[in-house]
Amino acid sequence: MCGIIGYLGDREATPVLMDGLKRLEYRGYDSAGVAVLQQGAEMTSVTKSEAKVDLLIAKLQDNMPSGRLGIGHTRWATHGKPTIVNAHPHTDCYGRISVVHNGIIENFAELKQELEAAGHEFVSDTDTEVVPHLIEQYYKGDFLSAVRQALQRIRGAYALAMFSLEDPELLVGARLNAPLVVGIGEGEYFVASDITAIIPYTKKVLILGEGEMAAVTPLGSTVTTLDGLPVEAKVIHVDWDVSQAEKGGFPHFMLKEIQETPEAVSNALRGRLDEDGHVSFMEFNASDQHLRRFEEVRLLGMGTSLHAAMVGENVIEDWAGIPARAQDASEFRYRRPTLGERTLTVVITQSGETADTLVGLRQARDRGSLTVAVTNVVGSTAARDSDGAIYLHSGPEIGVASTKTFIAHLVSQYLLALRLATAHGRVSLERREEIARSLKTLPDEIRRVLANHKEIARLAHHYSRFRNFMYVGRGLNHPVALEGALKLKEISYLHAEGSSGGELKHGPIALLDRDFPVVAICTDCATKEKMISNVHEVVARDAPVLALVSEGDHNLDDLATDVIEVPAADEAASAILSSVVLQLFAYHVAVELGCDVDQPRNLAKSVTVE
Ligand code: GLU
Repeated sequence: MCGIIGYLGDREATPVLMDGLKRLEYRGYDSAGVAVLQQGAEMTSVTKSEAKVDLLIAKLQDNMPSGRLGIGHTRWATHGKPTIVNAHPHTDCYGRISVVHNGIIENFAELKQELEAAGHEFVSDTDTEVVPHLIEQYYKGDFLSAVRQALQRIRGAYALAMFSLEDPELLVGARLNAPLVVGIGEGEYFVASDITAIIPYTKKVLILGEGEMAAVTPLGSTVTTLDGLPVEAKVIHVDWDVSQAEKGGFPHFMLKEIQETPEAVSNALRGRLDEDGHVSFMEFNASDQHLRRFEEVRLLGMGTSLHAAMVGENVIEDWAGIPARAQDASEFRYRRPTLGERTLTVVITQSGETADTLVGLRQARDRGSLTVAVTNVVGSTAARDSDGAIYLHSGPEIGVASTKTFIAHLVSQYLLALRLATAHGRVSLERREEIARSLKTLPDEIRRVLANHKEIARLAHHYSRFRNFMYVGRGLNHPVALEGALKLKEISYLHAEGSSGGELKHGPIALLDRDFPVVAICTDCATKEKMISNVHEVVARDAPVLALVSEGDHNLDDLATDVIEVPAADEAASAILSSVVLQLFAYHVAVELGCDVDQPRNLAKSVTVE
C-alpha cells in the first residue's frame, strides 16, 4: 500500500517529490525512490534508498537531480524483499521508461516469462517491473498508446505514475482498484496516491475514477478510460489542512484502518480464490499430495493473532477434518511439543517480527514440522524463516490496536482451511462454491457494517459509563468475543473479559450485576439457541445486555437491553462482520473516554522482545 507521487510543472521536481513522499510515508516505508527527467541531459536520474524516505532525502540533498518532470515512491513491499533493487521507480531495459506502482500485478509471473522470452532483462523480484518492460514492448513512438496496450494486458490492482524520456512533457497516471488523484496547480500538475501529498501546492483535485487514466502535459490534463475513450473529469476543491490530511482526514489511524477493512479483505483474497472455491497461495504452493501428509495443524500466535489462530483452529477442524490446535506461542516455546513431520505449523504475526512467535516457529521447525507464516510484512523474519508465507497485503497498519489486519488474518485462515479441506478431499464442490461466494461478498457486507457506524457510536456513548464488560460467544464467536474484549481493554483501559457461552456459568457469571454489562454475540449459527439461553441467564442476574444479532432477527428485542444488527451471513463471514462491529464499539468507547486510541499506554505495535 505504497505512496506514489508525480510532478510536471515549472518548478524543480525533486523537492516537491521529497516533500510529497514524506507526507505519504504513512502508507509504507520500507524503501523509497525517485526518477527525475534531467533537463538538458536527456537522461533520467533514478535515486533509491533501501530504507525510509529520510535516507532518500539525505541522498538527494547530496546530489539533487534538476528537472521539471519526475515521479516518486515510498514502498510497502508485496512482492520481493525491501531491497534497493526492488525499490521503485522501475524502468525498462534502457532506462527510458520510468514507473512507480501501488498495488499488485496478479499475472506478473506469466507476463515476466513472456517478456523474458522476448529478450527483456529484469533486475528485481517485484511484480511492478513487468509494467515498464511491457510498455517498452509496445512502444512504437507513441508513449500513451504503448501504456494503453500494456494496461490491457495487466490484471490486478494498480495506481501508476509514469513517464518516458522520449516524451519529456508527458506525465501519465492510471488506476484500477487502487487510488490516484491528479492535483491541478497554476501551470503545474501532480499525480498522487492521495490528497495528503499535494495539499500544500493545490486544493484543486481531479479524482480519477476506477479504470481511468490521465495524460498530463503543460497544457492540461486529459482523462480517458484505459482504452482511450474520453471521460468527463470530476474536479473537486478540497478544504483540508495539512495536518489533518496525514490521517487521510480521519481523527485517528485506527478509525481510518477500520474503514479500510473492505479493501484489506479484497487484497487478502485477490488472485487466490476461484469461483469454484479453489485456493492457491503464491508463496505457499504445496501440492495436494504434500498437504495430505499432514495429520495435524498447530497455529501459533500472541494477542490478536492468537485469537485469529483460534478461529483458524476451528475452521481447519470443521472444514478439513484435521486435528488443529491454536497455542500461545510464548507457552508453546517452553513445552516439549510432540509435533513432527506430519504437523503443519502456522505462525500468525501481523508484523512478522513478534519475538515469542518467532521462537515458537524455530522450535517447530527444529522438530521437523513444515512451517508457514501468515503475516502482513513481506521479507519479515517470520516470512524468511518459514517454509512458506501467506501475505495479508493489508497495507501498513499504524494504529497500535490491530483492526483491518485481524480481519485479513481471519480471511487467510478461511482460505487455508479451504485449501487443506480440498487437498484432503473433505469438502464438496458445492460447499466450496458456497464458501467462495460468501467470501467474495464480504467486502460489501463489511461496508454495510461501516455504514451503521453512527448507531454503534451512539451505543458506545451509552456504555462508556460502565467500568467492566463481559464478552460472550460460542463456536467461532468465542475467539471473536475474546478479541472484542481485548480491543476494548487495549484502547480504553476498561476491564473486559471474554468467555465462551458454556464457560460463563462455571465461574465468570459470579461477576455480573447491573453495573457489569454483557456483550453477547447471538448471530445465526449452530449454537444460537444456546447463546439465547445465556442471555436469559445473565438478564436474570440484572446484567445489561448488548446483543449482536443477525439482521431481521427479533428474538432478543424484548430481552436484551440493546441490539445491534449484523448483516445475515454464514458463520465464518458473520464472525468477521461481528468483529468489525466490536472494533468500532471499542474505538468509540475509547474516544468517549478521551484515550489515546492510536498509541495506548504501555503497548507497542510489534512486540519484538520475549
Ligand atoms: N507490488 C509492488 C511491490 O511490491 C507495489 C507494492 C505496494 O503497493 O506497496 O513493489
